Amino acid sequence: MALNFYNTLTRTKEEFIPIEQGKVKMYCCGPTVYNYQHIGNLKTFLFEDILKRVLIYNDYEVTHIMNITDVGHLVSDEDEGEDKMELGASREGKTVWQIAEYYTDVFKEDLKRLNILYPDVFCKATDFIKEQIEMIECLEKKGFTYRTSDGIYYDTSKFPDYGKLAKLDIEGLRAGERVEFSEEKRNPTDFSVWKFSPKDKQRQMEWDSPWGKGFPGWHLECSAMSIKFLGNHFDIHCGGIDHIPVHHTNEIAQAEACTGEKFVNYWLHGEFLNMGDVKMSKSSGDFLTLQRLIDMKYDPMHYKYFLLSAHYRTKLKFSFEALDAAKSGYDRLLTNILKIKNSVSKTSQSEQTNSEQNKFKSYINDDLNIPRGLAQLQQIVSSELSNEEKLFLIYEFDKIFGFGFKDAKDKPKDDIDIPSEILTLAEARIEAKKNKDFKRADEIRNEIKVKGFEVIDKKEGFEIKKI
Ligand SMILES: [Zn+2]
Repeated sequence: MALNFYNTLTRTKEEFIPIEQGKVKMYCCGPTVYNYQHIGNLKTFLFEDILKRVLIYNDYEVTHIMNITDVGHLVSDEDEGEDKMELGASREGKTVWQIAEYYTDVFKEDLKRLNILYPDVFCKATDFIKEQIEMIECLEKKGFTYRTSDGIYYDTSKFPDYGKLAKLDIEGLRAGERVEFSEEKRNPTDFSVWKFSPKDKQRQMEWDSPWGKGFPGWHLECSAMSIKFLGNHFDIHCGGIDHIPVHHTNEIAQAEACTGEKFVNYWLHGEFLNMGDVKMSKSSGDFLTLQRLIDMKYDPMHYKYFLLSAHYRTKLKFSFEALDAAKSGYDRLLTNILKIKNSVSKTSQSEQTNSEQNKFKSYINDDLNIPRGLAQLQQIVSSELSNEEKLFLIYEFDKIFGFGFKDAKDKPKDDIDIPSEILTLAEARIEAKKNKDFKRADEIRNEIKVKGFEVIDKKEGFEIKKI
């Protein structure tokens, strides 16, 4: 059965044809680990996971690479402002390396909680500085770079196809009407591949290079590391739609100028999560994380179910009402599935299950139409099929959704009712700990214990269990 994806490069749905038969090489832009990921970021990683699962379902052997940006991502896309990592470090009074390690761990934990399959490789930008320097040397040799007072820049006018992914209006930009740019840049779209360390300040992360001490530009790591792991030309590259105009456009410019080959065949991009009235500013430190949802007694699967109710290329609006609706929908589905599970000891296939499977595959192969697949699952659960047939299909479809139905136990995980009094005490204990009043924190822990609950500290927040 044909597999079709919407390719941002051509703005059309195309049949997927791999470069090498039976194999798919895929690169996904990972997080910048200077803070927690907000729930909107997780939408992109979930879409990529579904994509990977669909490829595996179609019998492809998938090599999946994801970078971890731990250096060089500046606050603005225009090569201005501070490095986000150094900013995170000064905010928290830690070293940049500690910040990177901490937020990488939290990110990986979030993926696990959402049952997102890990990539084959998580590659950190700081582990591949040599490869990035080599790429700049390659670009320099071919005449694509120039030097300014603050770094080495890529001259986008030298690359004739620049902006093909984003369909950028280069002439418009060049006229300087929409973008203001530094006087030293030759073209408004030029970007830094190497930034010099400031003369008056010691950076925590800096490296020697043929051009002087400094650090790589953010876009460079993805070109250099994807080529290192997947070769000059590979199948799929994905990320959020915000990457199209600058980050992915620059990745193509660097890679294709250096190798002289086509970089990637299919570019897939996930739409944003629209937060509506819910505050989501990372800079104010007040934004929704998966942990926050868990603290509010949602299961990560509730959030996953909410995300999967919309197609990855549709903008989805978040609200707690919508999340609550997803929560009841998921809990109802799970209850029905558990009933089916408990009533049979095996699964069985039949002509009907084959035809349902084909139908399901036609949905997911049509540019990942997961909402249709979910609706089909709902129908099957309440259909006339035998429970053994139903269970076969439930497990089969869950290879794509990744809800973990096979391991689901009788009671939804978060079903214990924690009295609000206990929650208040637990919050007060965190507050006491923050104020370094450890004596008070211990007293509260005992108080909670006396009332029959145990509080367990987690990386972000806490968990409460019934004793
Ligand atoms: Zn990237």
